[in-house]
Parts: sequence; structure tokens; C-alpha cells
Amino acid sequence: MKYDAIIVGAGIAGATAARILAEEGNKKVLVIERRSHIGGNCFDEFDDYGILIHTYGPHIFHTGEESVREFLSRFTEWYDFGHEVVAKVGDQLIPVPFNLNTLHMVYDQEKADRLEKKLLEEYGGGSRVPIMKLRENEDPDVREIAEYVYQNVFLRYTMKQWGQKPEDISPEVTGRVPVVISYDNRYFKDKYQSMPLHGYTPMFEAMLDHENIEVCLNTDCSEVLKFEDRKIFFKGDEFTGDVIYTGAIDELFDLRFGRLPYRSLDFKFEHLDQDSFQGHSVVNYTVSEDFTRITEFKYLTGQKDTNGTTIVREYPFAYTGAEGEIPYYAILNEDNENLYNKYKTMTEEFENFHLLGRLAEYKYYNIDAMTLKAMELARTLI
Ligand code: FAD
Ligand code: UDP
Repeated sequence: MKYDAIIVGAGIAGATAARILAEEGNKKVLVIERRSHIGGNCFDEFDDYGILIHTYGPHIFHTGEESVREFLSRFTEWYDFGHEVVAKVGDQLIPVPFNLNTLHMVYDQEKADRLEKKLLEEYGGGSRVPIMKLRENEDPDVREIAEYVYQNVFLRYTMKQWGQKPEDISPEVTGRVPVVISYDNRYFKDKYQSMPLHGYTPMFEAMLDHENIEVCLNTDCSEVLKFEDRKIFFKGDEFTGDVIYTGAIDELFDLRFGRLPYRSLDFKFEHLDQDSFQGHSVVNYTVSEDFTRITEFKYLTGQKDTNGTTIVREYPFAYTGAEGEIPYYAILNEDNENLYNKYKTMTEEFENFHLLGRLAEYKYYNIDAMTLKAMELARTLI
């Protein structure tokens, strides 16, 4: 096949762009993926015990974006799932994000009623207040709640996840899990909250199943793509079609200006010969343990007839680039953004080259935002 476009990476960014280019643009697309499977970090598979697990950590789809929901619904049916998370604080399991239910669990009735009234007056019912904003409030009652939430929900978890205190990381990150002034225990607020009924991998298979798309697994793009003299070469020949790159940008230029910092995760899976381990899909360990959270997959995906149960613990660490490590989270700060921009500038000399995705854009994207961005980019290229 002679290709009109080449996409590096078969995650949600690459797969979405490939489908739009192939279908709406009638372009012949080659997708190059270094892993042995499609799906990027959304990949899921059945473990040795027949339980569907998320190999790269729990992924819950949620969106308020109709166009994204509509697009992905062409490739999967859904299992409705209003994700709820609890945090283990002492002997209690408290709902996270911290909300009015949590308030009533941690304070006695009289005090909780008084604090609830105060929160409603200050912020209004249904509002979502980032912890770093709540801490700025001067009212002693509100400050007391903020201090409780900071100490029991954010401080230790963030230290584990980022190696830094909440005040030293981008407020955008802790702002993802605000204090919620309502009785809604759900982790997300979006209209649609669900999991692909048969898993993410079949959804990706359906997305990439198109006569104009060819997928080449187990291939690092450096084996076939070269960037020289303002031109891109594919297997030795100049390639003038569009190239969409969803990998890490520093790797593309041999770490010329140094490595972009990331946080990584070590996932420790365990199968237990018991019906249930924690009775919840995700328990966050916000004040104790070295791991951040435990996911029990059967509760995430509604798997009922399983033998035993499979769980995973997540241990964060600083990404070093060593063999086998995966860069999961960009560390958002000014220094890193400047370093990123140095690499980005280098890509600007290649007119037909496009950066897309969590790695290539060095951003914190959810699945839905990534899908939307990929749809938009692909449509501008048609
Ligand atoms: P990826 O999924 O990382 O795909 C990039 C692909 O490119 C990979 O397959 C990689 O192997 C390939 N690649 C890279 N370099 C090369 C190269 N040189 N040659 C060939 N191939 C290459 N989002 C949600 O909406 N809900 C969640 O619950 C959620 N949970 C998450 C949990 C964790 C632990 C993490 C880390 C992320 C989570 N996300 C979640 C975010 C979600 O994973 C991302 O939005 C999404 O995976 C981004 O897709 P992507 O295509 O940009 O990147
Ligand atoms: N966070 C926390 N305690 C929690 C949940 C989240 O401190 O119980 C902080 C932590 O810094 C985390 C950030 O909020 O990295 C964003 O949480 P989210 O669940 O969105 O992280 P992700 O799902 O992307 O890992």
C-alpha cells in the first residue's frame, strides 16, 4: 500500500486520527506502534484467571462531549458506570472527592450541619471548589474543613504520586478532584460515565478495522522514519504526506536538550482466591502505605461470574527512561514547559509533521479530550 499519512502510536489519539483520515478523508493510513498491541494506555486484556484487567491502570471513560460519545459509540456498546472512589483514612472509608456525605462522616451531626450551611452560603449548592482555593478562605470553619481535606486526602497521596506537596505542583492537577458541595459521591461530573461493554481493546480493534488503515505493531518509528534537512523519510524515501506523532517528543530528537521529566507507575497485580477484596472498584490510600490506590477490577467492569478477584496496587516513581519504564504523567511546571517548547520548535521545520497526544503535547489529557483533539486535528488535515 502507498500511504497518504503515517501515524506513530495506536493509543486513543492515534486510533481516532487514523479512523477519521481513513474514513472521512479516504486516505491510506499506516499506524506504527512499538508495543505488541493497540490501545496505548487504554489497553485491556483477560488475565490468567479470566478477569478483564487494565494493564496500564484503571481507565474510566467519562465525557460531556456529545461528538466524542457519538464517535466512540460507533465502535462499542457501553456499560454505564458512575465511578465512585473511597479513601482509607484510619478505619474509615470516606467518599472522594470530599463532598457533603464525607463531611457528615467525619464530623458529628451538629457540627456537620453547621459546616454544610456555611459551605452552601459561601459557594452555593453543586459547586466544585479546588482544595488550594478552599485553603485560601479566611472563615475559620471553612479553613478547618480545608485543613482536614488537605491533610487527609491530598498531602500524602500527592507526595506519593508526584514526590511533591500539593502547593508545589500545578493547581490544575489537584483541581481535578475538587471539594464538591453536594451529596453526589461520583468521581466525575460528566453526563456520560461508562466503560466499553466488552473492553477497550475490542473498541480499538473496531476503530482500526478499516480498509484504508494498516497497523504495524512491534515497530519503533525510529526504525522506519528519519528526520533530516527539513524533510521526513519513510524507509529511505521522502514522505510528503502528513505524519502524526503521538510518542514522547524528546525521544524523537535523541534527548538533545535533556529528558523531559515524567512520573511513572509500577503496577503490582495480584489474584486472590476470594470473592471480593475491598468491595469497591478503587480505594485511595491517602494517609498510609507506599502505594496510592488499589483497584479491584471486577467492580470496575461489572464482571460477575468470575473465579476469585484480581487487584492492582500503584506505586509511583520518577521516570528515568530505563528499559521497560513507561512515562505516564507529564510534570506540569514552567521549566518543563520551556524544555518542551525547545523540542517543539525543532518540529516546526517539518511542515507535514503534527504533534498529538498526552506524550507528544506533554499534557494531562483524559480519554475524551484526547479523542476530541484527534478528531479536530484529523479533520483539519483532510
Ligand atoms: P498513549 O495511550 O500513551 O498512546 C501512545 C502510543 O504511542 C503508545 O501505544 C506507545 O507505545 C506509542 N509510541 C510511543 N512512542 C512510539 C514510537 N517511537 N514508535 C512507535 N510507537 C510509539 N483517562 C480517562 O479519561 N479516564 C481514566 O480513568 C484515566 N485513567 C488513567 C490512569 C492512568 C494510570 C493513566 C496514566 C492515564 C489515565 N487516563 C485516563 C488518561 C489516558 O490514559 C490518556 O488520555 C490516553 O491514554 C492518551 O492517549 P494517547 O494516545 O495520547 O497516549
Ligand atoms: N489526589 C489526591 N488524593 C486523592 C485523589 C487525588 O491527593 O485521593 C490528587 C493527586 O495529586 C492526584 C491529583 O489529585 O495526582 C489528580 O487526581 P486524579 O484522580 O485525577 O489522578 P489520575 O486519575 O490522573 O491519576
